[in-house]
Amino acid sequence: MGKRTLNLTDELYNYLLSVSLKEPQPAQKLREETNRMLLSAMQSPPEESQFIALLLKWIGAKRVLEIGTFTGYTTLLMGLAMPSNGRIITCDIDDRWPNMGRRFWEEAGVDCKIDFRLAPALETMDNLLSRDYANYFDFIFIDADKENYCNYYERAIRMVRPGGMIGVDNVLWGGSVINVQNQGPDTRGIREINKRIYQDDRVSMSMLPIGDGLTIAIREI
Ligand code: CA
Repeated sequence: MGKRTLNLTDELYNYLLSVSLKEPQPAQKLREETNRMLLSAMQSPPEESQFIALLLKWIGAKRVLEIGTFTGYTTLLMGLAMPSNGRIITCDIDDRWPNMGRRFWEEAGVDCKIDFRLAPALETMDNLLSRDYANYFDFIFIDADKENYCNYYERAIRMVRPGGMIGVDNVLWGGSVINVQNQGPDTRGIREINKRIYQDDRVSMSMLPIGDGLTIAIREI
């Protein structure tokens, strides 16, 4: 086998951050605050969120749907990457963490672009689908409960515009995807979505070993 993705030591990872991470101050403060709450495992690593923001700039995204807000770190960076008329609908079933993030959204001046929906994301998605949000979004980011990933994905395929992008987070799930002993609902949900997207002719896709694994799929035109 030829060269595969480099195994990042802590030192090399820190180097990568030192020459690439351009984290705005409100985002840095939000990340540190989240770390203080000891919930850092649920937060996307900063270089991954920065990459997603870069993708949004690249495609000129104005309409974004995020499934799983948490403290809204990625939400904040996506907001900064979008034009002033850009809008993010972001869904979560718990408003404690988005409420924590909100003051940093305000500090970054992106709160006006963020429309937080407190409800199970499947309900919010079905609701949007019944109100003309099919073929609507430029980018949909799936990063909520893993058990429902395929359900989110099937809706996302209908909601993203042709040529638009779907991002799916945690697709390597800490490596547990290859541990056959692990048959927990989350791990099975991740295996299922990975197989689904790989076999799906409706999209072109690539899986990146960034963070906990990120799949990018583009809906065929
Ligand atoms: Ca995640």
